[in-house]
Amino acid sequence: MIKRLALFAQEIFEFFLPRLCLFCSEPAPVAAANAICPGCEAQVQPVVSPLCPCCGRVFGSREGADHLCGPCQTEPPPFDRALAAVIYEEEGPTGLAIKRLKYGRRFEYLPLLRAWLGAPACRELAAAADLVAPVPLHPRRLRERGFNQAVLLARSFPEAPFSRDALTRLRPTRPQTGLSPPERRDNVKGAFAVTRPALVDGRHVCLVDDVYTTGATVRECARALKKAGASAVTVLTVARVRYD
Ligand SMILES: [Zn+2]
Ligand SMILES: [Zn+2]
Repeated sequence: MIKRLALFAQEIFEFFLPRLCLFCSEPAPVAAANAICPGCEAQVQPVVSPLCPCCGRVFGSREGADHLCGPCQTEPPPFDRALAAVIYEEEGPTGLAIKRLKYGRRFEYLPLLRAWLGAPACRELAAAADLVAPVPLHPRRLRERGFNQAVLLARSFPEAPFSRDALTRLRPTRPQTGLSPPERRDNVKGAFAVTRPALVDGRHVCLVDDVYTTGATVRECARALKKAGASAVTVLTVARVRYD
């Protein structure tokens, strides 16, 4: 009882402490449960049109309507649509939040990542799916890291049924970071399999991951899901690398 009271007192005490921005340590508004100051928030660029309605590529020009990008016209991806919430900036708040959570186990960044992923367009895409599934980690990598960030992010969508084991990673692939696009493709080729085809057969599956870089990983996941009978595969990521 005393321990509980002490905890309660501590919570009240912390409630009145000024919240500091997770990126620059400036005070963050109390209302910002996600602890980002207005200055750092301003550096976060949401994904907005014009973009490719298929792979989600954000075009450099701010003019014009959404249209299929060159690569999606010549070689359509195995997924139906990919969408990200924000632009990935390696040294900006988006890159730092993702890397600190993933490699530094800094879970205080999770609410912020979830808030970004909760953009209306992303929610809509998840809600339209029959199943929300995270991009899986290989069991060995999962043991090393202790958690799969894609699982934590995929749980942001209570409006859609969730399955953490719709897909499995058959072999431990090298991290994609630092690999060229063809190396990334080879690295994940045939790396995924559907564990329970009945779960995805005839269903619209929405895959969730942290970052979309070349899309090599989600393409392989989508291939496995389509092979198992998924009627549609969409991809949601918190962030997306900008290609101009
Ligand atoms: Zn800040
Ligand atoms: Zn495209």
